[in-house]
Amino acid sequence: MKKIEKAKKFLKENLDLFQCPICQEPFQSVDGNSLVCEEGHNFNISKKGTVHFLTKGVSNEYDTEMLSSRFRIAQAGLFNIMLDEIMEHIEEKNGTTIDIGSGEGSQLDYLSSLGLEGKQIGFDISKDAIALAGSHFTDAFWCVADLAHSPFASKQTDTLLNIFSPSNYQEFKRMLRPNGTLLKIVPDKDYLIELRNVLYRDREEKQSYSNELVVAKFQEHFPESQIYTIRYTFPLTLENYQDLVKMTPLSWGASEEALKYAVAHPLKEITIHVCLLVGKMPG
Ligand SMILES: [Zn+2]
Repeated sequence: MKKIEKAKKFLKENLDLFQCPICQEPFQSVDGNSLVCEEGHNFNISKKGTVHFLTKGVSNEYDTEMLSSRFRIAQAGLFNIMLDEIMEHIEEKNGTTIDIGSGEGSQLDYLSSLGLEGKQIGFDISKDAIALAGSHFTDAFWCVADLAHSPFASKQTDTLLNIFSPSNYQEFKRMLRPNGTLLKIVPDKDYLIELRNVLYRDREEKQSYSNELVVAKFQEHFPESQIYTIRYTFPLTLENYQDLVKMTPLSWGASEEALKYAVAHPLKEITIHVCLLVGKMPG
């Protein structure tokens, strides 16, 4: 089946997962290649089967080169051990899973390869990221959206993934079903530490990182939450390393000199050190 036909079929069968991001009313139908709400707002379904729910342009820092680097290093397995752990905490493997800030789609695709079934939706505010996801991965439905103007209906989601991506807790709680689960990944203090030490070798104050405030905010919204630490080192090929330097937001703040030094001194391994925060909605 063509990607657009597959997306149309998914949307027709799952209209109740969505709401119009303009008026918050339910969607009524898939009409031709458009998704149409009860007020008549309509959103085009692209040839790749993706839907663009943004009502105005949004700029973001991720360019296609960065996204391609992230795609390659994710395919190389940088995040696999972390995602294996996430998979353990997905209770409804046949339910509805939405990846909030899916980026170029690798993480949802890997979970699917581990046996995640059910309805899978990846969304990101970056249209370049969703274009990449839509061209590589066909198991999930991909859309461009902004959490502040959400295209997702209330109480329809079993599992929300929020991996290295900003949160909107009010929105998450609205979207989750009773007993639904929010799985959030935040960096911990030694995340990419080897790279930080190189890129910030002239700026010691930027070498350390604390996730204390982010964790506290999560706990405020999900007081019964559980916290797990995931830590491992990943061996890097030269190509992996070059991609890592390109994809990481850390390199934005590095001086030109430090960046040159980093390129000339490739790392052989990198530490992944993150917190997995697990929040449950009341039943
Ligand atoms: Zn509408």
